[in-house]
Amino acid sequence: MQKQVSKVRVRFAPSPTGGLHLGGVRTVLYNYLFAKKHHGDFIVRIEDTDQTRFVEGAEQYIFDCLRWCGLEPNESPLHGGSFGPYRQSERKSTYLQYALQLIEAGHAYYAFDTPTELEEMRNRFKTDENPSPQYDASIRMKMKNSLTLSPDDVKKMLSEKVPYVIRIKIPQNETISFNDMIHQEVSFDSNVVDDKVLLKADGMPTYHLAVVVDDYLMKISHAFRGEEWLSSAPVHILLWKYLFGLDHMPQWAHLPLILGPAGKLSKRDGAKFGFPVYAMNWIDPRNNEFTEGFKEKGFLPEAFVNLLAILGWNNGTEQELFSLEELIDQFSLERVHKSGAKFDYEKAQWFNHEWIKKSSDDHLLPIVKNLLTNKNISDINDSFLKKLIGLVKERCTLIEDFYSQTVYFFKKPDYVELEAIQPKWTMDKSTFFNRFIEKLDGIEDWSFQSIENEFKQLSAEMLIKPGELQLPFRIMLVGGKFGPAVFEIANLIGKAETKHRINATLMKLNN
Ligand code: GLU
Repeated sequence: MQKQVSKVRVRFAPSPTGGLHLGGVRTVLYNYLFAKKHHGDFIVRIEDTDQTRFVEGAEQYIFDCLRWCGLEPNESPLHGGSFGPYRQSERKSTYLQYALQLIEAGHAYYAFDTPTELEEMRNRFKTDENPSPQYDASIRMKMKNSLTLSPDDVKKMLSEKVPYVIRIKIPQNETISFNDMIHQEVSFDSNVVDDKVLLKADGMPTYHLAVVVDDYLMKISHAFRGEEWLSSAPVHILLWKYLFGLDHMPQWAHLPLILGPAGKLSKRDGAKFGFPVYAMNWIDPRNNEFTEGFKEKGFLPEAFVNLLAILGWNNGTEQELFSLEELIDQFSLERVHKSGAKFDYEKAQWFNHEWIKKSSDDHLLPIVKNLLTNKNISDINDSFLKKLIGLVKERCTLIEDFYSQTVYFFKKPDYVELEAIQPKWTMDKSTFFNRFIEKLDGIEDWSFQSIENEFKQLSAEMLIKPGELQLPFRIMLVGGKFGPAVFEIANLIGKAETKHRINATLMKLNN
């Protein structure tokens, strides 16, 4: 049964533990699309209750990535909102009361076991069938907790501030089920679920308690998260049932894994196969380990968002190119696939190429200008650069390609591939280019049409096929066998520079 929802409110709830994997951005995207489609709110909540995993800079990095992708939250620690604070560490005092409420109702208990005692338990109960015994119904009555100690002892230990955690008491022989928006009916046997810690000795909640309490307090209507969280679902369902009632539980969707060349896509795959896995470059401050990002690799955010949308979803047709607006309009959770989606870097590059072609020259201008400036090309005239962009964008797969495709408009090629000219070079061809230089002097309007006309007339006069002359001409101007129409290039670099580059190559060829 679909529950009635007053306002769609979804959340992305990252732990600030490192770079943002493309799977994480896809989770953001599906949340965002759903929220926008239903005129709802998209919230980012920082789940930083595990202080041991906290990484400096990771939170800011997450927001930078979302901004680059154009997936701006409505509410977050940076954006504010009326359900804050949006960092769980700043909500620490909220959680204890819920843990105590669970104890009161008999659904949770204090556990005083020390790390050594837990270790002993694991060794004591280890069997071949059960190599890593868990703290669960079969074990809890053999441990040091408020179920086994007398109420007086418990009171005393609490007053003496003996360190404790609060654990959920998972019921036995129950089937815990819920209706996932992608997987439909999902059930779990309570006997295989352990008594998870809800509140840690430092007073911080664990993810399990905090996620449920905050989804409730922040009035989250739908929670979409990676499939790796499915195994935590039974604990969360029980917490919803015990604390707030299942009617309030958000509708969940567990998104399929993104697969790499061998199983779940990992950042190691990126390093191994030479493709980015993170949204943006990330340097782990703990060990200076660098992981490459799609942004710096030369992807347009539109392409990145598009390719992520397609990793696990389609609109029922063959269409693959979607703008964010089209995605908002057409996205539906029901069309998200159940099985893992394979990431294909070739295909990712195809998306970028298509988006470069689709983008207006105006849109690409600041991006390409930035690239060239970083490569020490100065004094760039915007309208000139726009012309270049229009001329070469068909040839660019990554933003970086705009450099090799336009650099020769700004400076002489560093290297001219003489070896590609020499085998078919003749005296006649040399004469042709010397005479061509003279002809160029006579061109008044310097249009590409006039340049082409002179070229063709002269080649006809000298009985040399223009096709045999165009390749050397191109190599003289750009240094290699690439670039747009050669007469366009001559037109754009100007008369003096065209003559100069022909001359310079002729001198080398005749040496
Ligand atoms: N804090 C979890 C994470 O790091 C959130 C999982 C969820 O969305 O419930 O992904």
